[in-house]
Amino acid sequence: MLEKDIKETFYSKEEIHERIAQLGKTLSEDYKDKNPLVVGILKGAVPFLTDLVREMNIPLEMDFMDVSSYGNTTVSSGEVKILKDLDTVVENRHLLIVEDIIDSGRTLNYLVNLLKYRQASSVKIVTLLDKPDGRVIDIEADYVGFEVPNEFVVGFGLDYAERYRNLPYIGVLKPEVYEKNS
Ligand code: 5GP
Ligand code: MG
Ligand code: MG
Repeated sequence: MLEKDIKETFYSKEEIHERIAQLGKTLSEDYKDKNPLVVGILKGAVPFLTDLVREMNIPLEMDFMDVSSYGNTTVSSGEVKILKDLDTVVENRHLLIVEDIIDSGRTLNYLVNLLKYRQASSVKIVTLLDKPDGRVIDIEADYVGFEVPNEFVVGFGLDYAERYRNLPYIGVLKPEVYEKNS
């Protein structure tokens, strides 16, 4: 069903699972004895987060934020609107933000600054995908699953018009999918 809309696969289900297992192992080492608060950014990070935490064999807590960019993307102020805030007090906590992708860097730049302002002990980023060619703000993730080229990718949490988040791999859509929707 879904695969008929996919032009090309960038990372397969198996590659993604293997990479997440490696990241989980590294994070288990880096965060043992820290009881990190794993902060998932809704909704794109959900499939990645749920797999990742099950590869982290340490005590941790989870919480979620939902954010959206203010106004139009082209002349973005870089400001981000919080649609759902954390339920947890982050002061003196070690935070690990889990994102689906870093593109311009605006979302994560805003979130890191906000959470540091709230006196978190540390704020680090793990992202499933990194699109370095899209960067507008100079920010890097601390842990990256895979790099992707400057193309619009879907799957494993990443949507097009809210669809394809449940695709178990990462790929790009056929051009006719966009034409159908416009
Ligand atoms: P940034 O603030 O770094 O520009 O982008 C953050 C958000 O834009 C991501 O969390 C994601 O929701 C969306 N985004 C950026 N690039 C892509 C992409 O290639 N595919 C999809 N589906 N979403 C993207
Ligand atoms: Mg996101
Ligand atoms: Mg989206």
